[in-house]
Amino acid sequence: APEAQTKPGLLGRLFTRADTRTVIRRTLDDDMLEQLEELLIAADMGVDTALRVTANMAEGRYGKKLSTDEIKQLLAREVARIMEPVAKPLPIYPKRPQVVLVVGVNGSGKTTTIGKLASQFRAAGKKVVIAAGDTFRAAAVEQLQIWGDRAGVPVLTAPEGSDPASLAFDALTKAQQDGADLLMIDTAGRLQNRADLMEELAKIVRVIRKKDETAPHNTLLVLDATTGQNALSQVETFQKLADVSGLVMTKLDGTAKGGVLVALADKFGLPIHAIGVGEQIDDLAPFDPEEFAAALTG
Ligand code: GDP
Repeated sequence: APEAQTKPGLLGRLFTRADTRTVIRRTLDDDMLEQLEELLIAADMGVDTALRVTANMAEGRYGKKLSTDEIKQLLAREVARIMEPVAKPLPIYPKRPQVVLVVGVNGSGKTTTIGKLASQFRAAGKKVVIAAGDTFRAAAVEQLQIWGDRAGVPVLTAPEGSDPASLAFDALTKAQQDGADLLMIDTAGRLQNRADLMEELAKIVRVIRKKDETAPHNTLLVLDATTGQNALSQVETFQKLADVSGLVMTKLDGTAKGGVLVALADKFGLPIHAIGVGEQIDDLAPFDPEEFAAALTG
């Protein structure tokens, strides 16, 4: 069938519109499963996860004739099943201020996500403080201040090149004095020198624990969904650098195929606390596994 007749979404690439309108049945055989696998891999799901998904689809149904709609629903159900356990909002701790360390490579959307989260928490009546911990990038500090202004949240900064751990300590002191509910600490995202970054993150944790031995309460890793399979290696890297407790996936509004979220959930099982769906302050949404699965399979 000509390309123009196929509809968007994963299975749109496999079935023509005519296929889904009429009740054409396809045998769930090796050939069909292989075609499905290829689609899932092309959508950034990775080989292991794609194989697992298709194996689950075939379980008890191998060789059966299914309508294209049934195949679509089956795929969506398998994807949703993997995603449901990871769809969790950011846990709120009774401890105040709750300290949230935000990590991720430069450009992943850390600054934007901190601004969006600050705005959401403030709208929920929480008192929020932000620490601009990427003290080596003057532009990052400036950007964070802009986001803090937008969200109506104070941003603590330190002179360029100064010690991020000392800023984090001061920020926690201020957040405690002000009776803040939440302190979000931005961090550097230079992966070029991992040893330095590891030491920097470890020092931030060490120093804030002098003020609150339970901190940080969350370590959020911000990942750009458009980087595809690269997101997997970023999780591995940051798990070595910090005690990652959850993810925020950004740029899901763009051309990201989204399959990498399934691979991430399958491989690491880390909670996805929120997804970025645009560049504006309100463009942060809870992760909805059913909706995601339906949109992905199309
Ligand atoms: P940082 O270097 O990790 O702090 O990244 P930034 O927060 O500065 O974001 C890098 C770029 O990605 C900016 O141009 C943001 O506007 C953009 N961005 C961040 N989150 C999203 C998102 O969810 N959707 C889209 N379309 N763009 C985003």
